[in-house]
Amino acid sequence: MLLFLSHKSILAYFPKIGILGGGQLGKMLFLEAHKWAVPISVMDSDANAVCHKVCNTFVQGDLLDYQTVLNFGSTVDIITIEIENINIRALQELEKNGKIVIPQTSVLEIVQNKVKQKKFYNENEIATSNFQSFESIESLKSAISNNEITFPFIWKAARFGYDGYGVKKINSIKELNSINDGECLVEEMVDISKELSVIICRNPSGETSCFPVVEMEFNPKSNQVEYILCPARISESIESLAHQLALKVSQSFNHFGLLAIELFLDKNQTLLVNEVAPRPHNSGHWSVEGAYSSQYQQHLRALLDLPLGNSLMKSPSVMVNLVGKEGCSGNVVYQNVNQVHDISNAYLHLYGKSITRPNRKMGHITILDQQLESAYKMAQKLKQQIQIISN
Ligand code: ADP
Repeated sequence: MLLFLSHKSILAYFPKIGILGGGQLGKMLFLEAHKWAVPISVMDSDANAVCHKVCNTFVQGDLLDYQTVLNFGSTVDIITIEIENINIRALQELEKNGKIVIPQTSVLEIVQNKVKQKKFYNENEIATSNFQSFESIESLKSAISNNEITFPFIWKAARFGYDGYGVKKINSIKELNSINDGECLVEEMVDISKELSVIICRNPSGETSCFPVVEMEFNPKSNQVEYILCPARISESIESLAHQLALKVSQSFNHFGLLAIELFLDKNQTLLVNEVAPRPHNSGHWSVEGAYSSQYQQHLRALLDLPLGNSLMKSPSVMVNLVGKEGCSGNVVYQNVNQVHDISNAYLHLYGKSITRPNRKMGHITILDQQLESAYKMAQKLKQQIQIISN
């Protein structure tokens, strides 16, 4: 499928792209598009969203409101997202009206709901942890009373979870009292040896390109991704299985644009799909400096249905997230950030958020080094030195 114009004329004139969500992922996508002078509009509910400071056209609007999303989408040719919680009916309407929506609403509809997503994996014979779904906490409690579920388990809200919010390890029925009611999932605990991610890009013409498998390390206290190591420290056979599994997931969704596939490698060396994100992903930040074509470049090419670039890594890379310090909320102060400038293989990104909060993602650093372990040590050192606090 070729959009709009031939490749030759696309170079002279790009269609307008609208990004729903104006955080750091939107900013990095905007910056990539800006290199080619692609006209970009961004919408976010927050007037202080990161993108407001950098992009051509910023609209403040509720991403979950039907009319607001419809109105915004009507002003552009291609619509994409950097966050999943968007009014799906509006996107469906835009698709019906001939707008190009990437990822397609058929993909987003499944991904927006963790119950639908898990069922999709079962239907498509994609390995994932065992689960049961419930309409409410009450129905979950009665299943527990009937001895249908054993502790501990992982509870997940079906909708609106992110970065570990909406996910909890449950050890007793009492712990369910502090959880928001609503549709939910109960997953069997996986004995995780490593958490991995594979990002695949696919353009509407059907070309796919796969980034190397990366390893995600989580902060044990906040449960947020702290480090990304590329390549993952896994055997060649696991790497190849991870790529095969990711490709199967990608083919099953039949998506356009990026698809980040989060995997668990369990203690028996079995790979399970945890969840996917059909958009740029934190586990792909390293690719801005570490790969020949970054995830943002690949996504942009997919949006425009251009041939994809080269997803291979230029150098082993480690990315470390810089998050707001515990106990600090308010106007941001960056402490010791200047340490990064002395290190020639360290690349600093600050998102430009004026307000910090505990564990809020405020920036990241990517370190390129032929020795992955050296890059990792440097990332750990910088993480300790740099503090993001409030004044
Ligand atoms: P979110 O969408 O908020 O990122 P995830 O589904 O990725 O939520 O879960 C967050 C984290 O919780 C995972 O990265 C993993 O560390 C842990 N987790 C999730 N599901 C399981 C499971 N079935 N078994 C063990 N740990 C899990």
